[in-house]
Amino acid sequence: MTDSLRFIPLGGLSEIGMNCAALASGDTVFAIDCGVGFTDELGADMFHPDFAWLEEQRDRLRAIVVTHGHEDHIGALPYLLKRVRVPVYAPPYAAALIRDRLREHRLEDIDLRVGSAGSRFEIGPFTVERFAVHHSIADATGLILDTPVGTVVHTGDFKIESEPCAGQLFDRERLEEVARDGVRLLFSDSTGADVEGTSNLECTAEDALERWVARSPHRVVVATFSSNVFRLRAALRIARAHGRKVCLLGMSVRNHTEVATALKLVPPIDSLLVSAEVSATLPRHEVMIITGGTQGEPRASLTRLAREEHSYLHLSEGDTVIFSSRIIPGNELAVLDVINRFERRGLEVITRREHPEIHASGHGSREEQRSMLRLLRPEAFVPVHGTHRHHRRHAELAREEGVAQIELVENGKVLEVTRDSLELVGSVPVGRVYVERMEPLGKGVIEDRRAMASGGLVTISIAMKDGRLKSSPRVLARGVVGTDIRSRVEQKVANHIRDKLKGRSFTRHELAEEIAIEAARRFLIHHHRKRPLIAAAVVEAS
Ligand SMILES: [Zn+2]
Ligand SMILES: [Zn+2]
Repeated sequence: MTDSLRFIPLGGLSEIGMNCAALASGDTVFAIDCGVGFTDELGADMFHPDFAWLEEQRDRLRAIVVTHGHEDHIGALPYLLKRVRVPVYAPPYAAALIRDRLREHRLEDIDLRVGSAGSRFEIGPFTVERFAVHHSIADATGLILDTPVGTVVHTGDFKIESEPCAGQLFDRERLEEVARDGVRLLFSDSTGADVEGTSNLECTAEDALERWVARSPHRVVVATFSSNVFRLRAALRIARAHGRKVCLLGMSVRNHTEVATALKLVPPIDSLLVSAEVSATLPRHEVMIITGGTQGEPRASLTRLAREEHSYLHLSEGDTVIFSSRIIPGNELAVLDVINRFERRGLEVITRREHPEIHASGHGSREEQRSMLRLLRPEAFVPVHGTHRHHRRHAELAREEGVAQIELVENGKVLEVTRDSLELVGSVPVGRVYVERMEPLGKGVIEDRRAMASGGLVTISIAMKDGRLKSSPRVLARGVVGTDIRSRVEQKVANHIRDKLKGRSFTRHELAEEIAIEAARRFLIHHHRKRPLIAAAVVEAS
């Protein structure tokens, strides 16, 4: 048998977020990243990939390798580790976040192996080496994989900055060295494939932030992605330089500041910090509030400030809110609502829309993706992270750069890689598991909630004696028709069900319940064009 390698993405390849893929060769499987996606749909907070296939591989599954600490790369680790225990390899910043998360989930004795860029380790026939990439979090790495079919490079999330700020590293020389020996296959981040040119620089965002802070007469709120240590460090430096005390608002900003200080990524800041209570008593021009919640999340501190629902802090006319962030697609309305609430009260709101320099994305645009292709000159190319459209746009670039073999892969597809071919050879089951307050929602819960939210709920109680209908069923409809006609409709549905069950004898309750549900379903579609969730229960009368 010739040497081969299989790549099986379980998430992140038909969508943005929820990154998780498996690499397999012989009797070794390992996962690269294990992330979540966020939602506020139907009571769920997030979702993670369906791990059923990985669980089936438990005898071959040797490790999970994390590229960096963003939630869409680490957030699902506790859920997978509750099912399979394998070592987790992570760079330092990600490891600190993972440790917190495992503690929250009371997961003990996880074998967490911490290594920075440049570190190497072996997993079965694979040797894995980390290399540093620029990204919007500290310690972001890509992976150089020595595999049975040659060298495979996975970029992780990346950008390439022409003027990196302190602590932003990119191992260009190492990649040049690897390219000289030949790269069989490149997996590269496609998130920025729709954006021409190069991405904004982190140091430009810092300069813009400083200009706006300098110009603000009263309180300044800096809303940013709290995992971006570079931006956090910039805001803290600017506060100090402009004589402002800092109030860290929200769990996430406080956690990241703590981790960043412990890892010495930001200088000591104790003398700078004040509580929300104290900041409310200081002169307004001496206060900077740093907060997350840039996506208009309903429970975020920034949203509470916008709604004037915060216990201590009340912003007022003349204060400035700077969104040093971008809107993640899908959150536009929520963010606009927050902005409108501030502006209506006479606050100045600075966003990327009017001032593009106020934010720098963590993902490279097309020219940076092109640079990566030129740097590595791979024989084969597979775009990863992002939707199908991002992959197609990224594949165009690879074609322009003369890459011979290109394959677009989606979640659940199995890509087989040999020394000279790439081929889709099958598929594995994939899906989403929704999570509510740290507990996975069981199968069918979200579907039921969706049906109830869009069509309402109908319950049917059926009294039976000795397998026969004892009295007319009782039907309750909620959220289906208006209260003015509700009892009439309930009665009609009940009559219809009664006619279907009357005179029959049932040895199984389930059969009577199925017939009742089907009768109600047809009746409500036919007469009212309604599709509620319908539940039925037989009660045996004594
Ligand atoms: Zn990332
Ligand atoms: Zn990502």
